[in-house]
Amino acid sequence: MLARLFPRALAVVLFTMAAAAVSAAPAAAPSLRLYTLDCGHLSLPDMGMFDDGGSSDGRPGEMAVPCFLIRHPQGDLLWDTGLGDRLAAHPGGVVNAFGIRESVETPLLAQLAALGVKPDKVRYVAFSHLHADHTGNANLFVKSTWLLAKAELDAGLATPAPIGVDPALFSAYRQARVETFDLDHDVFGDGSVRILRAPGHTAGHSVLLLKLAKGGAVILSGDLYHSRANYEQSRVPPINFSRAETLASFDRVAHLLQNLRARLIIQHDPGDFAALPKPPAYLD
Ligand SMILES: [Zn+2]
Repeated sequence: MLARLFPRALAVVLFTMAAAAVSAAPAAAPSLRLYTLDCGHLSLPDMGMFDDGGSSDGRPGEMAVPCFLIRHPQGDLLWDTGLGDRLAAHPGGVVNAFGIRESVETPLLAQLAALGVKPDKVRYVAFSHLHADHTGNANLFVKSTWLLAKAELDAGLATPAPIGVDPALFSAYRQARVETFDLDHDVFGDGSVRILRAPGHTAGHSVLLLKLAKGGAVILSGDLYHSRANYEQSRVPPINFSRAETLASFDRVAHLLQNLRARLIIQHDPGDFAALPKPPAYLD
């Protein structure tokens, strides 16, 4: 009798132990989460540089500069790295060569630390494009894999550098592991996070498409649009690499927004930024 019962008793004990181990472990990796980090602010004396149709000539404006931490069960992705943390040492900000005041209130590293994220552990870093307000902290992520649109990297390394690009800000790509791509790029291979070609602002500009479990499809604009008004009016900045490619990218993203019923987040728009949860809150 004992001999017959023992295997069953052992099985019960083992099952109970396994169940205890599962319940004692941290909660299962959550589904996709989107954290919006505050990576700076721009005060611009003349918004005319964002509309070649003249609607904004001579008008001052303000812009948010977010970074986005995307937490996926297979690792973290940082989308854009904002203005540099070095600016946090200048409380009133610094005026750049274009007369634009750049400021950073809380360093990106401190914001990541508050979420328990060490820069060395961020698996991927990617950029909508290589302008200085998106690459300011890039060199902090030398241990990450850099996901770079080949056209954007090639253009960013040209001599002389394109206006708005400072290659010194992303020089760590030479030491980092780099994956380049010519077309769209599926970051984790499951379709939940995709870097999509949307050139025009720069040669290899991209937007990021996320599929959130509760929030649905979300598109992070990069600088395809700089404000809600520019999105609604299809305004093209005179500083863009290609007007024709910009309009084609507007067309692509408009179709995506419609077909996927996606939410568009215009990264530089202060209203869009203000509407997003502040860490530790997130979209999922
Ligand atoms: Zn920008």
